[in-house]
Amino acid sequence: MPTLALNCNNCGAPLSVPEGVRFLTCSFCQSQLEVVQEGNAAFTKVLEQLQERTEQVATDVERLKLQNQLLSLEHEWDRQSRDLMVHNKEGRPHVPTVGGAIAMLLIGGLMSAFALSIHPGMGLLFIVVIIIGATMQWTQADRYSRAKRQFELNRQRIHSEMDQLSLRE
Ligand SMILES: [Zn+2]
Repeated sequence: MPTLALNCNNCGAPLSVPEGVRFLTCSFCQSQLEVVQEGNAAFTKVLEQLQERTEQVATDVERLKLQNQLLSLEHEWDRQSRDLMVHNKEGRPHVPTVGGAIAMLLIGGLMSAFALSIHPGMGLLFIVVIIIGATMQWTQADRYSRAKRQFELNRQRIHSEMDQLSLRE
């Protein structure tokens, strides 16, 4: 059987490899070798390095996937937070807060008391409008902070997965 005269890519020992054999173990240093043929030239490559490279590629793919997840998560939060924002009288969006709801109740309460002293019917209407408005703001503030918390948890998870990838290298 024709053989190829090759050298171990790890220790340089001469190897006589039967043609057609693709993988072998160096009898001197026990390296796992792959026979690589390029045109008329043939040489050996240490297989473990190949595996390391494969792992590196897998890590890179995983990192890209996580980066994409992070991007779409941030994009989604961007959209979601805009949906959850409330608009002031000038139409400018702002984050709904419980403090805002309380302020509405306090100011509204004073206005209602004043309105009640002049016109009881209007005062009652005021109270109803203010309670509804404050409740809506309060609910929205709650939804906003829940959504934000969820977003932060997801972002944290992706970041820690990225950290673990870096540790593997
Ligand atoms: Zn060797």
